[in-house]
Amino acid sequence: MRLFRQMQLCRQVHGLTRGQWRRIICICLVTVVLPLKAGQDRKIDTVFQYSAINALLAGVYDGDLTLESLAEHGNTGIGTINGIDGEMIVLDGVFYSIKSDGLAYKLAPGEKTPFAVVAFLNAEVESVLKETSSVDVLTKHLDTLIDAHNAIQVIRIDGSFTQLTLRSEPKQTRPYRPLAELMAEEQVKFELNDVKGTMIGFRMPDYMTGLNVPGYHFHFITDDRKRGGHVLNLQMISGQVTLDTQRGFNMVLPNIPLFNEAMLGSDREKELESVEQN
Ligand SMILES: [Zn+2]
Repeated sequence: MRLFRQMQLCRQVHGLTRGQWRRIICICLVTVVLPLKAGQDRKIDTVFQYSAINALLAGVYDGDLTLESLAEHGNTGIGTINGIDGEMIVLDGVFYSIKSDGLAYKLAPGEKTPFAVVAFLNAEVESVLKETSSVDVLTKHLDTLIDAHNAIQVIRIDGSFTQLTLRSEPKQTRPYRPLAELMAEEQVKFELNDVKGTMIGFRMPDYMTGLNVPGYHFHFITDDRKRGGHVLNLQMISGQVTLDTQRGFNMVLPNIPLFNEAMLGSDREKELESVEQN
């Protein structure tokens, strides 16, 4: 009311008619207030990441974030669960872990993760993939579809595969070893032949070393949601690619002694390469 009285006073002081005054209010609304509101509403597609890859490499295999909380930030993603109990894949809002027996287990909302990346996938680029003989051929092809190499790409590929080489790892107990040691000693590889399924992954810019895996990182699950794993190699007959460039990055760090006391500053690029590609 006070504002209204002040506006009335202002109109009288300047000797404006009601029509002139209304026009001024309209111009103010269109040029100042509405653009401000639109700016507030502008949605930035944001990838959500919990913890840093260097923490996982250092053996921080527990976290304090539940999958229920993680689901608020995305319906598509990858990661693992506490104790590094398998390779996690999130698609259409459902969480699975592919454990060391190669089987996919649907995860409960109360499970916790030590490392995960999720996003809400919006189909920005859709492309059909023809016969693809390896993961290298696939990623080279994806590179040609991506303009924004310094932004984050969320990737989904639904396809028919003649062969997939996948891996997982058994659940760990404390004290945890560094990830490269664990993988060298206990990684379990599986081969799948003639299956249909979905790959979910990200392409992270090179400058994100230490935070995430630079380049491509894919997890896979079969159409019947029974098998899968971290993708090491593949042969594909055909596939449908969905790409989504995201420019927001929201990173949340664990608050547990294991994370708080870990030494995370060292260069772990070589360890990461041995973990991701072997
Ligand atoms: Zn993985």
